[in-house]
Amino acid sequence: MVKYFSTRGGGSPVSASEAVLKGLAEDGGLFFPDHIPPLTKSLRELAEMSYQDVAYEVMKPFLSDYTEEELKHCIKNAYDAKFDTEVIAPLVYADGAYYLELFHGATIAFKDMALSILPHLMITAAKKNQIQNDIVILTATSGDTGKAALAGFADVKGTKIIVFYPKNGVSPIQEKQMLTQKGDNTLVVGIHGNFDDAQNGVKKIFGDQELSKLMAENGHQFSSANSINIGRLVPQVVYYVYSYVKLLKEGKLSDKEPVNVVVPTGNFGNILAAYFAKNMGLPIAKLICASNENRVLFDFFRTGTYDRNRSFVLTSSPSMDILISSNLERLIYLIAECDAEKNKELMTQLSTSGKYEITVNMQEKLQDFYGGYADEAETADMIASLYQDCGYVIDPHTAVAACVYKKYKEETADETKTIIASTASPYKFTRSVMKALGKDGGEPDDFVLADRLRELSGVSIPEAVEGIRRAPLLHDTVCEKEEMADVVKRYLGI
Ligand SMILES: *Cc1c(COP(=O)(O)O)cnc(C)c1O
Repeated sequence: MVKYFSTRGGGSPVSASEAVLKGLAEDGGLFFPDHIPPLTKSLRELAEMSYQDVAYEVMKPFLSDYTEEELKHCIKNAYDAKFDTEVIAPLVYADGAYYLELFHGATIAFKDMALSILPHLMITAAKKNQIQNDIVILTATSGDTGKAALAGFADVKGTKIIVFYPKNGVSPIQEKQMLTQKGDNTLVVGIHGNFDDAQNGVKKIFGDQELSKLMAENGHQFSSANSINIGRLVPQVVYYVYSYVKLLKEGKLSDKEPVNVVVPTGNFGNILAAYFAKNMGLPIAKLICASNENRVLFDFFRTGTYDRNRSFVLTSSPSMDILISSNLERLIYLIAECDAEKNKELMTQLSTSGKYEITVNMQEKLQDFYGGYADEAETADMIASLYQDCGYVIDPHTAVAACVYKKYKEETADETKTIIASTASPYKFTRSVMKALGKDGGEPDDFVLADRLRELSGVSIPEAVEGIRRAPLLHDTVCEKEEMADVVKRYLGI
């Protein structure tokens, strides 16, 4: 029975379902399993299974207090026709690497992989724990989480969802996706500030004891759909296992053959899931962490110092425009040999001085990771060259990863087969993609650009874009970053 502890040592251990409900531990730490369970089936056995069945095998040992029936029900409701392909996460081979397309869900970005199941995990958890309160999901988004969470929670009974995003920090299509969100239980709020401001504001609201008392008196309680929730992390482990075993089945990999994975990284959730997969026994060699010009993680892997004191850059890969990668705390905890005191000390330094330095001992445990980054020009060039060479169009986030992989190969001559996490459809970032291809032609309308992208790539326009083309805007709330708590209170009428 896996139990969950706070990475900062506070509170008592909780069950998986309690961790899913709470999101964040009471002392501000993140929940961490007491051990990372090994895979329960052989890779050859998993190779014969559907995505849904692999999902069950991978998630069950982590979500140990969910019954088989409960978990299977959650999986069935998550990975269904919302995805435009039965395989859920297809692999595409291009220019010497396997692109793992994680964008075939409702909002065409990889957040759907976890956020299509999180609401089900959460309602199930509420039932299991006899929660009567309404669950209020509070989320900060750099663009993709917000819409994926809204899509997942809209009109789910017993829940409300409030999403904060940086007003000028997301793509026009991302913004329109959110502002057209239906559902009586949804609120979308733009803030004057960047993603870190939104995330800090949300963390502050979570930590506000008075507010949570007021909430309880009115029959509400907060939870988080951000990638710190283990209900986000665990479902993300699945596709690493799934993609590996599919390559095994197709004879592209032999038994136990190692692969590298390259992950375009922001909050460090996706790559951490790959690290969990490795710790479960999946033969992953290097975990290549790709950053954009907000290269805090690149510097961290190079120097052992995490330093957020720098200017925030708005890039063409906005979902990675992040200076505080929340999930890194889990890796820090792990390389500190689960020493919560040590982790807490570093996290306190991060919040007071904006930086911390890990010990040499800890640094040695990071050998599995390689940090790289790509600047804006390199990212655009990568989109153009992959299209020219292979006819394959990728989005800017994926291009950051592809570019870092190219640099990695040049530097190391490592020929290990490699899976690149392809985290968004090019249609989500049509303008940047068309610009990179030299084809935007000053066209003001992103939807017209989408039509052109279709002609050029031969890939049809996903429903996620087609469906909002003419949809009415349903949200118009904008606030200062200091006003976030007030907006929440007003919405809940408390
Ligand atoms: C969220 C996101 C990322 C970053 O993933 P993390 O888990 O936050 O590191 C990368 N690409 C896209 C398209 C995303 O939406």
